[in-house]
Amino acid sequence: MSDDVNNNQQDGPLPDVSENPEAIEAAAAQDARVESGDAEFQLTDNPEEGEPAQAETTVEPIDTEDGVPKEGMNLHHAESVDELFDCTIIGGGTTGLYGAFYAGMREMSVKIVDSLGELGGQVSALYPEKYIYDVAGFPEVKGKELIAGCIQQGLQFGPTVCLGEKVEHLEKQEDGTFTLSTEGPNETKHMHRSKTVIIAAGVGAFAPRKLPDYDPKLDELEGKHVFYFVKDLEVFRDQNILIVGGGDSAMDWAMMLEPIAKQITLIHRRDKWRAHEDSVKKVLNSSVDVRVFHEVKEVQFEGDDISGVTIYDNKTKQETPLQIDKLIMCLGFIANIGPIKEWGLEIQGGGIVVNSGTMQTNIPGIFAAGDVARYEGKLGLIATGFGEAATAANYAKNFIDPASRVFPGHSSERDGH
Ligand SMILES: Cc1cc2nc3c(=O)[nH]c(=O)nc-3n(C[C@H](O)[C@H](O)[C@H](O)COP(=O)(O)OP(=O)(O)OC[C@H]3O[C@@H](n4cnc5c(N)ncnc54)[C@H](O)[C@@H]3O)c2cc1C
Repeated sequence: MSDDVNNNQQDGPLPDVSENPEAIEAAAAQDARVESGDAEFQLTDNPEEGEPAQAETTVEPIDTEDGVPKEGMNLHHAESVDELFDCTIIGGGTTGLYGAFYAGMREMSVKIVDSLGELGGQVSALYPEKYIYDVAGFPEVKGKELIAGCIQQGLQFGPTVCLGEKVEHLEKQEDGTFTLSTEGPNETKHMHRSKTVIIAAGVGAFAPRKLPDYDPKLDELEGKHVFYFVKDLEVFRDQNILIVGGGDSAMDWAMMLEPIAKQITLIHRRDKWRAHEDSVKKVLNSSVDVRVFHEVKEVQFEGDDISGVTIYDNKTKQETPLQIDKLIMCLGFIANIGPIKEWGLEIQGGGIVVNSGTMQTNIPGIFAAGDVARYEGKLGLIATGFGEAATAANYAKNFIDPASRVFPGHSSERDGH
């Protein structure tokens, strides 16, 4: 496999699309790599791009030490086609998680579906280590800490969470309910049924970027030898690990795995890091074997195992064989807004047009909130997503039960709170 990560990456400054829906749409049309704040990622509206890359869709419930109750949590892959949920939320970012909380508080049965293998959307994928200063109630909060709180709040009423599934089709049935069909790793298909849908899809379905000229054999080894997310540290105990990448995820996982791995090699295609300075320093001062200007040349397989990998110095072209057991790739993300455009929704500026008073789209029963929602004066902020999610959840409740009040009163007035 020719592995030149640079093949697929433009050098020089990338266009900054922060809070600019038109720029986001234009970038998606060109499959362009862009910047938003400090984060670099690729946007596409090509439905063939950005397939979910994480085979493992079962997530261990977060235990009470993390402050999240185990009881009532229902994190699993969708197995039952028949179960009809009151509300299905497409997207497990800050908006989707808050929508799940609010819909749960309105006693709706809720399902969250996300293409990524972890919750948290853009914040987790692009800037977990950055401080955020404009979320109400937090003078400053690290991205990953905000997400931990959003998860704790969002999952407290026990929504079903389906990760690693990209929603490809959304259709209204004759009886007024909706079916969502999703595609998971290795083209596994699933169906979901729901009375209402809240689309909280941000800038599109996120999926980890793969190596250029990707060997499909690597897909088969996902979750066993090839990883894009680290969920279970034990899988890596006493293993020889190669981490590819120079961002926060690469650094975080190098430091998390260093005490238990046999040996970690970390390669990065250049000598400039996208990661937080402090994390880079820690890795450079650890036992991790860091090699800059190095890329993957070829992965060798032996049956269902990775037997080794050849890396090369992109300046000298010198090749080095490495014996590895596990390969962790942190090459950034592709955001794919493609399928959403095919669902019969009114689309504008790369997002979904909604009634800003109710967050309902042009299809009754389908609501949109957060970055993906468009109305006059729209601001793409975490804070606005929270408000829109609450509005969408309340109107979704009223949609399936017109006798219920849209505004149920304040949460502080609820029994037991
Ligand atoms: C570098 C950077 C810094 C930022 N800093 C700030 C800041 O300081 N303050 C602030 O308020 N905002 C900030 N923002 C913006 C903020 O991150 C977004 O407004 C917010 O994350 C949007 O949340 P969301 O839940 O609407 O969408 P997202 O977080 O994008 O979540 C959408 C989720 O939907 C999933 N999804 C999409 N389509 C599908 C599909 N078809 N099937 C399944 N899943 C799907 C995606 O995988 C994703 O996980 C920043 C953004 C960036 C990039």
